[in-house]
Amino acid sequence: MLSTLVYRSRLRGEITTEQLAALDRQARADNEARGITGILLFDGSHCFQLLEGPEAMVQEVYRRVCADLRHHHVVKLLDDYAPGRKFGQWGMKLFDVRAQPPEQADALVRRLVQDTALPAADRAFKLIRAFASGRWRDHAVAVPDAASWTFERRPTPFRDAGPQVYSSTACQFALQPIVDASTGQVSSLEALIRSASGGPPQECFDRIPRDQLHRFDLESKRQAFELAAAVGIGACRLSINLLPASLVDMPHAVDHLVEQIRALGLAPQQVIVEITEEEALSHFGAFQAAIKRLRAAGIGLAIDDFGAGFAGLSLLSKFQPEKLKIDRMIVTGIHADGPRQAIVKAVVECCRSLGITTVAEGVETFDEWCWLRAAGVDLFQGFLVAKPRLNGVADVVWPVPRRGAAATAALTP
Ligand code: C2E
Ligand code: MN
Ligand code: MN
Repeated sequence: MLSTLVYRSRLRGEITTEQLAALDRQARADNEARGITGILLFDGSHCFQLLEGPEAMVQEVYRRVCADLRHHHVVKLLDDYAPGRKFGQWGMKLFDVRAQPPEQADALVRRLVQDTALPAADRAFKLIRAFASGRWRDHAVAVPDAASWTFERRPTPFRDAGPQVYSSTACQFALQPIVDASTGQVSSLEALIRSASGGPPQECFDRIPRDQLHRFDLESKRQAFELAAAVGIGACRLSINLLPASLVDMPHAVDHLVEQIRALGLAPQQVIVEITEEEALSHFGAFQAAIKRLRAAGIGLAIDDFGAGFAGLSLLSKFQPEKLKIDRMIVTGIHADGPRQAIVKAVVECCRSLGITTVAEGVETFDEWCWLRAAGVDLFQGFLVAKPRLNGVADVVWPVPRRGAAATAALTP
């Protein structure tokens, strides 16, 4: 199948005109052998490349670019299919956009596509034009270079509690820190349910008869509060997960929660209820009444797994939580994925205008952390920072600038 792939990357170090010409020759020969047409735009620091040709060949070249140490911050912008070639069949065309004043960008692009029937509305065409004119920088996030940072493991001030803290043996909880990168503080702990033997949430819920699930979900939270009190959460907040139905179907659910919270010496203001976006929307009518009661009691609300379901922005138009947790599906690999970057940038911007705190979930790599932090995400949760720990809180790993490295000077899109 004929495919088109567009990526942008940053070149490590300087490159001379001769080196660039050699690179061009090499790429042309490689591409010709694979039936690939390439367009490479270079602006002195960044490359923008379009590859068109048989899918397997295009993917092979792209994999090589990703593994090539001369490129970093490689971001895929477009991955598409077409019934026929949009560009002529040539191995490679290189354009040094520094040789063009920005206002000449259109002329460059026109020249580039003069032999093609490419409409101005074509996405590849628009991307080429944005790079040639330098306008792409307006939309790119300046990211610190991962190599100039290192990690520091810091113990958290919480105690390990052990299973004897609970008043019931129906379940246990694991706690996972959610950290604030700008203050270096643990902002909250998320309580994740575990079975009596420490198994995952599903194993725990599978043992509960269907008609008792919501009651169990609600009443299990007493154990989450017991654990929070036992580890000594101090000024930190506690996030709990609830199915909306556990709030809606259970009579006096909010009063029950508040009672349990106070009984364990916590304040309702310390507690945040996380509801997944899909569940919130599918039960919205009844859920709205529960939101009011939660807010009136001082309990915070977070939308969980944002971007994983179908609600998306339409949910935000209906109600605005205190926190919005961006799902791991969007977070994974974000540093190399143009569409996900565009979505998260828009979500961060939207949350900022509404005063909503953004949380990135499932952050596993430092590249993801760097991009998300540079894009303005407020809080971080994930295995990179700390894994959930049964009946306790694991140490937190913090990124710190490497000694002597100009971490902030290396900011680059
Ligand atoms: P969630 O609320 O989105 O919780 C985050 C889940 O992602 C947790 O899985 C956590 O262990 C996992 N996680 C955190 N960081 C990373 C990471 O960097 N990489 C990966 N791969 N995973 C990460 P867990 O504990 O298995 O929980 C799964 C889901 O079960 C939760 O997702 C939540 O929706 C639900 N759940 C947990 N506790 C309760 C509860 O008490 N009541 C209800 N109704 N649902 C719960
Ligand atoms: Mn959650
Ligand atoms: Mn989640």
